[in-house]
Amino acid sequence: MNMDMKVLVEKYGTPLYVYDFDYIENRYTTLKEAFAGKKSLINYAVKANSNLSVIQHLAKLGAGADCVSIGEVRRAMDAGVDKYKIIFSGVGKRDDEIREALEKDILLLNLESEAEMKRVEMVAKALGKEARISIRVNPNIDPQTHPYISTGLHENKFGVEIDMAKRMYIYANKSEFLNPVGIHFHIGSQLTKLEPIKEAAVIVADLVRSLKAIKIDIKFFDVGGGIGVVYSDEVTIPAEAYTQVIFEAVKGLDVTLLCEPGRYMVANAGAFFTSVLYEKVNDGKRFVIVDGAMNDLLRPSLYNAYHKIEAVGVEGETTSADVVGPVCESGDFFGKGVQLPALEHNDLLVIQSAGAYGFTMASNYNTRNKPAEVALEAGVDRVIRKRETYEDQVRLEREYLK
Ligand SMILES: *Cc1c(COP(=O)(O)O)cnc(C)c1O
Repeated sequence: MNMDMKVLVEKYGTPLYVYDFDYIENRYTTLKEAFAGKKSLINYAVKANSNLSVIQHLAKLGAGADCVSIGEVRRAMDAGVDKYKIIFSGVGKRDDEIREALEKDILLLNLESEAEMKRVEMVAKALGKEARISIRVNPNIDPQTHPYISTGLHENKFGVEIDMAKRMYIYANKSEFLNPVGIHFHIGSQLTKLEPIKEAAVIVADLVRSLKAIKIDIKFFDVGGGIGVVYSDEVTIPAEAYTQVIFEAVKGLDVTLLCEPGRYMVANAGAFFTSVLYEKVNDGKRFVIVDGAMNDLLRPSLYNAYHKIEAVGVEGETTSADVVGPVCESGDFFGKGVQLPALEHNDLLVIQSAGAYGFTMASNYNTRNKPAEVALEAGVDRVIRKRETYEDQVRLEREYLK
């Protein structure tokens, strides 16, 4: 397997992202089956990996899309996601984004503040349309995950408190231009504990019951994303256990369940390959310098996130090393204290679990070209994004040279 990967990576060069499409299919099917017996739609969170071919692969399986910008909505539609399976979330939306989403007639806009609701109403009015909306409720639950990816506490910028949500639903229900069809929560990412999800679902389901009691008929119950994955030795939530607590919470309610997994679908489908440039030792400390960098895969630098790193097809006694890129920042590392054998120029390293929030967070810092992306499906590899070139990078600047 490792030697096969070496041959495959040599074909495309490094740094390189490779995604296993069969794994993505398997994840989708596992989760979808866990929802069996209930009306449900899986809205893949496009921000995790927004490559058109990745979205298309999921769309063909029946997935919808959860988008956080109009760019992502366009990607979803380009990739063939049915418009009635697209939701547009996010804490801030420009008027032109709202307008385009309404014109495209997507399933719903997910709102995160009263001010946003008023903007959506104005834009809908100008278009003479009724906007289907849901409201993101912040249930004030500690998801017990990394503070940067925790979103379900009042101290976070996301969603609105229960009382505010209720007032917003009452307002929207009376408005000619708003149709409150959904409710939403998303308490954080990389969740490995079921209890916070359960608590949030119960709180939000109770709100739905009280809304139904005043004739506000919520049709879509969106439980957000955030299901955790294994990066090292995490114990994750089984799909069946996850859906079971949701089924329990919505008991007796006639709703379609939406869920918005990103990481769950793609994180462990992806690997990032990088070649060794050389090794160096500074005052007894070993560094392995590779051709990939924080601009390609930011998670270690941004969150101090752990990614398993292995040498591909290199044997030998291992010692501890920091794996670092060429970018001019001390924060430019993929792993610290990684056990690796002695490495030579062009030896290949694989950084595992890089399918989510990898390429989508890539930048051109240090005028580095973004890596190529390759899909592996039924044993066949194909490019799904060309390696960027210097010309691609300067295209929008060159004409302004004097
Ligand atoms: C980021 C995000 C998701 C996806 O999160 P994952 O942890 O990748 O599953 C889902 N819904 C919303 C609203 C998000 O912001």
